[in-house]
Amino acid sequence: MARLTIDNLRKAFAGTVAVDDFSLDVADGELVCLLGPSGSGKSTVLRMIGGFEQPSSGAIRIDGQDVTRLSPERRPTGMVFQSHALWSHMNVFNNIAFGLKLRRLSRAEIRDKVEHALELVGLAGYGTRQTFQLSGGQQQRVALARSLVLEPKILLLDEPFASLDQHLRERLREEVRDIQQRLGITTLFVTHGQDEALAMADRIVVLRNGQCEQADAPDVVYRNPQTQFVAGFIGQMN
Ligand code: ADP
Ligand code: MG
Repeated sequence: MARLTIDNLRKAFAGTVAVDDFSLDVADGELVCLLGPSGSGKSTVLRMIGGFEQPSSGAIRIDGQDVTRLSPERRPTGMVFQSHALWSHMNVFNNIAFGLKLRRLSRAEIRDKVEHALELVGLAGYGTRQTFQLSGGQQQRVALARSLVLEPKILLLDEPFASLDQHLRERLREEVRDIQQRLGITTLFVTHGQDEALAMADRIVVLRNGQCEQADAPDVVYRNPQTQFVAGFIGQMN
């Protein structure tokens, strides 16, 4: 059974169909990149999986359970947004611990979990820093730790490196791939960067006008691009 099953998902805003008849199965431990130009519906798909947007129709199931109408807190998903949205009045430790405090855990358990999450993202010892003291890349690592500490079944990343420079993007892409594989966590990664998708994904789903144009392994997408969007890019690389 797939970890995530999306059936005929549709989202209409006033005047716009953002996502149209989108279906996808994601296997346990798979990293799927949602790739497509700006406005193609990538964020809306991700936000519906995370519960931040209600579908107009269609269904989302995680491990067979219908989560389509559940609020974000009640879903086994963790989401990292393009802008990290850390709480600036809390230090790094408290940013990561915040969600855990809603669970019945001892202080020692919370501390262990936060320290483990910080280690995972390469920020061991940063707990007492204020978030404004961190670089953009470090802030995104904290945002990632804040999601991972809740041990979600599915990690949702919406252009998490979009505001960072190319060099840092390439490094963080490797780090995220490494963490993802070590944890074996099912991940959906939204990007408009073809290089990012080709480098990271087990499978690439190309979106256009809210619809899936191609869903294939990176080497297949590379050799046999079904879309202008990807074909144009590969033409530039060769
Ligand atoms: P992407 O992430 O691929 O850039 P989005 O999912 O953000 O695309 O947007 C898909 C389409 O839906 C775009 O036309 C966008 O303008 C529209 N859209 C997204 N969110 C809203 C909203 N809250 N209200 C109205 N239109 C929206
Ligand atoms: Mg987007």
